[in-house]
Amino acid sequence: MAESAEPRSLAVFGSTGSVGRSTLDLVAQSNGDFQVDVLTAHRSVSELAEQARRHGCNLAVIAEPELYGDLKDALAGEPIEVAAGAEALVEAAERASDLVMAAIVGAAGLPATMAAVRRGATIALANKETLICAGPLVMEAVSRHGATFLPVDSEHNAIFQVLEDKQIDCVDRIVLTASGGPFRTMAQDDMEAVTPAQAVAHPNWSMGAKISVDSATMMNKGLEIIEAHHLFGLPNEQIDVVVHPQSIIHSLVAYKDGSMLAQLGVPDMRVPIAYALSWPQRMATNIPQLDLVEVATLTFEPPDMGRFPALRLAREALSGGGGAPTVLNAANEVAVAAFLEGGIGFLDICRTIERALERFDGSVLGGLEDVLALDADARRFATETLSNGSGGLVRAVAQ
Ligand code: NAD
Ligand code: MG
Repeated sequence: MAESAEPRSLAVFGSTGSVGRSTLDLVAQSNGDFQVDVLTAHRSVSELAEQARRHGCNLAVIAEPELYGDLKDALAGEPIEVAAGAEALVEAAERASDLVMAAIVGAAGLPATMAAVRRGATIALANKETLICAGPLVMEAVSRHGATFLPVDSEHNAIFQVLEDKQIDCVDRIVLTASGGPFRTMAQDDMEAVTPAQAVAHPNWSMGAKISVDSATMMNKGLEIIEAHHLFGLPNEQIDVVVHPQSIIHSLVAYKDGSMLAQLGVPDMRVPIAYALSWPQRMATNIPQLDLVEVATLTFEPPDMGRFPALRLAREALSGGGGAPTVLNAANEVAVAAFLEGGIGFLDICRTIERALERFDGSVLGGLEDVLALDADARRFATETLSNGSGGLVRAVAQ
């Protein structure tokens, strides 16, 4: 970016996560384009304090209120304000930072992202669950308050790079690419017994644990269909999914005239993050260039809807509308956490979600309070379904 420009102030929500760390790596590479205003984390006090010191931020927020004292001690003597708790996260999002990176994982990111939206902020949006659990309300607030979303999710970032606003009526469909995850070729019977370690070992991308499991079930692609629907205003039927195991083409737009435009790059989240950080310009980075000759072959196949029911569940939730996507997201978060803790089997994740969708079928959403209430109810239902073992969902890890 232009060297003479004033540094832009940046707030990174979820700075200790995979996307948060990559964001700070790019900030360090940018030669002073950014002044870090806010950093936040859930429980990682020492990493947050280290980042706060290294980047000289103004405010560090730890979401877990009981860790306030620890963070205060870790930053003693530094000219850095310290805060803790859910309200402090919202207040941090209300500050006038030029750019907000929303990289908290899960619906936990919703209140801060909404607070940034309400002040008309420019928001680099990684936290897709915000759009799954409250998409219509969030997008309505974006347009009412003149906020700007810059998609960080690599597929949506790719589409954002190749979709001209003024050509939206010329779009035939968008095509989200999916790696297929670590179990792309595994027989369904074998999937029953996969371990959390196998599920988080993604073949191409290095990511946080929750999204890695989502990629393994392909719920990640299901969530991304809903995310794309809200970000680009396209219906379910105009959002295709194609499995592309090399993860080089990050997504495509197919226009009515027969042209398809794609964005390509190495599978490194710093590429889409860099675009969001420097938009509408581009920044230089030390990320290796894509070597097409070395890649040599790009392949494509249809997703297997039988082995990966998550795609069907997400499409049904999107077309069902109302509270269905909220329920889908909440049940998925609970089930993925239970799987990661070893309490349930891999295939139980989608079974739990399906039950929750049946249980809350027909729920409607008014305002944000309805979203939060339904999110809590669906979490309670999913937790009970898992812990009382009804229908044999609970399995011993070692079985
Ligand atoms: P992660 O688990 O690595 O990091 C999550 C961050 O959020 C951490 O800083 C953590 O401290 C914070 N956090 C977690 N729970 C919180 C809570 N209850 N309250 C406040 N803060 C909390 O996650 P990630 O992989 O970096 O993903 C972040 C978001 O970006 C997710 O929504 C994910 O779907 C999306 N995303 C990630 C990638 C990726 O490559 N990692 C790619 C595309 C989209
Ligand atoms: Mg993605």
